[in-house]
Amino acid sequence: MAYTLNEKLAAFPPYTPSDEDPKLIHMDANECAMNLPADLVDRASKEVLGVQFHRYPDAYAKDLREAFAAFYGLSADCVTAGNGSDELIGLFISAFLMKGETFLTTEPDFSMYTFYPHLSEVPVVLVEKGEDLTLSAGSLIEQAKASNARLVLFSNPCNPTSVGLPRKDVLRIVEALPDTLVVVDEAYMDFWEEDQSVLGEVGAYDNLAVLKTCSKMGLAALRLGFAVTNPRLTQVLQTVKSVYNINTLTQRIATLVLREESALRNQIAKTIASRRALSVAVAAREKTFPGLLKLYPSCTNFLTLRMPDPKGFAGFLLSRGISVRYFPQLVRVTAGTTKENEAFMTALDLYLEGESSHA
Ligand SMILES: *Cc1c(COP(=O)(O)O)cnc(C)c1O
Repeated sequence: MAYTLNEKLAAFPPYTPSDEDPKLIHMDANECAMNLPADLVDRASKEVLGVQFHRYPDAYAKDLREAFAAFYGLSADCVTAGNGSDELIGLFISAFLMKGETFLTTEPDFSMYTFYPHLSEVPVVLVEKGEDLTLSAGSLIEQAKASNARLVLFSNPCNPTSVGLPRKDVLRIVEALPDTLVVVDEAYMDFWEEDQSVLGEVGAYDNLAVLKTCSKMGLAALRLGFAVTNPRLTQVLQTVKSVYNINTLTQRIATLVLREESALRNQIAKTIASRRALSVAVAAREKTFPGLLKLYPSCTNFLTLRMPDPKGFAGFLLSRGISVRYFPQLVRVTAGTTKENEAFMTALDLYLEGESSHA
């Protein structure tokens, strides 16, 4: 037993994936609360029959990229497919930084943004958000310049804050940092306002990339995300990604589903309606128990709450069969089905009444 792990591995913080227990109500992973419509699942299953299992997948996922591009009104030569946007996040960090170059992201933001730099030993600068959880474009620009950051990555709207940064501020960042690649992760943009997206701007800038995922619209099982960039950057990404990164089953099924635009748009619309209903209900409790609960304005498929004891609240919910994600000061609750939202509200009321009685 003489082998010692290097420091970065020994210090690696464990990631706790969401609990897969089917008996739990899952409001912890920002998945879509509903499965695809049964007829689409049926057609997807037939795709499997056509697969030549002994052959490698299409390395450039041509049909899939075209279907994704059509869904968002883009050109396929601006699109690279990834094994989840996770793979693409890792790729941006490993490929677009030379040894010692600085990466900048925000805090709080998506946990994967610091996971990959840690693995690649990349220096990280964190732009801290204030109590209202908004990101200051001015402060980001200033810190990116001061640290000579070569790569900037943040989510918009943000996970875990649920807050959106207006499009004009995003473009201000891109324009202020011409020698920095700015990667905007729009994993949740479908749940905000379409005109806040910078997806259509990639052709206008040398240094802008946008990440998208299929995980939040109901296809988390397939592991599929996309980078949208100008054709020059797309060529680079296609060259440096792992060759057969998207398996044939994912390519075929996702192509079928993305062409079925109305089914996906319907899932997104239902998700927005669920988040709105849950926001209204939680906002009413915020009024009644102002010291116990603060709700942030959500542009996503989840709500972010500030509470005095997030861990205690999450434990209380778990004892009632509901799983949410908690952070040191925040609780993140994924919009569920009508029934799931009701179960959450019942549990929230019980918790708040209990807390206020011994306050
Ligand atoms: C969920 C999420 C993703 C999606 O990752 P996949 O690997 O595509 O599932 C990307 N970015 C953010 C900010 C997310 O919350």
